[in-house]
Amino acid sequence: MPLYSSYKILRQDILDKKTSCSQLVAHYLRQAKENEHLNIYVEIFADEAIKKAKALDEKLKSNPEQIGRLFGMVISIKDVICYKDHQVSAASKILENFTSLYTSTALQRLLDEDVIVIGRTNCDQFAMGSSNENSIYGPTRNYDDPTRVPGGSSGGAAVSVQADTCLAALGSDTGGSVRQPAAFCGLVGMKPTYGRISRYGLIAYASSFDQIGTLTHCVYDAALLVELMAGEDKFDATASSVKVEHYSQLEPINKPLRIGYFKSALEYPSLSQEIKDKTLHFIQAQEQAGHTVESIEFPLLEYVIPTYYVLTTAEASSNLSRFDGVRFGFRDASVKSLDDLYRKSRTDGFSEEVKKRIMLGTFVLSADYYDAYYTKAQKVRQLIKKRMNHIFEHFDLIIMPTTASIAWEIGHAKDDPMAMYLSDIFTVLPNLSGIPAINLPIDKSGINGLAIGMQVFSNINEENLLFSFSNHVT
Ligand code: GLN
Repeated sequence: MPLYSSYKILRQDILDKKTSCSQLVAHYLRQAKENEHLNIYVEIFADEAIKKAKALDEKLKSNPEQIGRLFGMVISIKDVICYKDHQVSAASKILENFTSLYTSTALQRLLDEDVIVIGRTNCDQFAMGSSNENSIYGPTRNYDDPTRVPGGSSGGAAVSVQADTCLAALGSDTGGSVRQPAAFCGLVGMKPTYGRISRYGLIAYASSFDQIGTLTHCVYDAALLVELMAGEDKFDATASSVKVEHYSQLEPINKPLRIGYFKSALEYPSLSQEIKDKTLHFIQAQEQAGHTVESIEFPLLEYVIPTYYVLTTAEASSNLSRFDGVRFGFRDASVKSLDDLYRKSRTDGFSEEVKKRIMLGTFVLSADYYDAYYTKAQKVRQLIKKRMNHIFEHFDLIIMPTTASIAWEIGHAKDDPMAMYLSDIFTVLPNLSGIPAINLPIDKSGINGLAIGMQVFSNINEENLLFSFSNHVT
């Protein structure tokens, strides 16, 4: 059991002097030490966190009316989020010893509200992966069963919360990297609408898909964090100017909603019987609660994985071209010519998986194949978006399993990239269409009591409804 599983209670305890920022940091650092074998952190900012906690405790004494809305909340950041004067590596050798020159907008907004950052968490290299096994730091392990993966790519982020080494974690979600680890670790994982949170200072994987997201124990904490991070940003032209609502108010649901689920998802061959049963049970419970529940035909489900992997690798091949051994991080110093410098630095600096994706992306963008792959995938993405728009004319929310299985054993899928890619079947759709999506921990599996998650999707910019409903059902 975590010491705290909701910021609301934690904050009240601080205000009532039942605990202090220093005590909290001491607890979380102890937990991090005790769970070192899980390989959660790439770096722990212990001294800094202790210092900041002390300063905050002083602030509460001398200036209580000035404390921020996240006063004393201890968070971790995934190793793809820039924090000025701190290293950031995307779990890759190519960014060895690289120090951030600025702080990402999302994190800055949280720092302005008095969060304490405990450290940066392990992840799949450049956020490419679904198991956290693709990291130069080695795999992160699931706290509930250390022989199993925590999911990925935000695996360290998930376990940092699961093992109670912090209250909340920031991750990134390009195709499920916040929701899938949340599902495997029994947490709430939220990916907002594309553009809801600025991507300034987030190391890019696929820019038209990437979003910063949160991993927390409860819906309230996710709503509060998203509310405070969201909104326009002059450093990111894709950050949305749509008004940020008070998500953390979590309005009551007092009218029947129209809820849909995809028949094709529940009939998906590799969906485990147990998860299928629990999904159906969850769906029935919504009907009993007075909502209208209907199944939806969605024949495009079989195209989401190929479309996602063509487009994200194309974007990655372009985004990652900046890591050339000249301007950032690792450089092979043994070379004589400029061409060799690029070649050797990139060959040694990137992992096999990252190189495979760069090459695949370069291939689909090459003159001879551009129309056959890249243009075609863009067209399919448009079809998917149109279909989703149409669906949301008739439905308020969609329910979908998050994963087809519970967390698998470390090593199980590492050498089967197709199986790994296919495991993203239920999570990539929100990123392809830009809609917000949340994972809710709904049950425990009969196998080792491992977590089972459920996703809920809403229409673009309908975070308020998504959070309110999620709070209502958890
Ligand atoms: N597993 C997916 C991938 O490997 C998603 C990763 C992510 O969301 N960053 O691309």
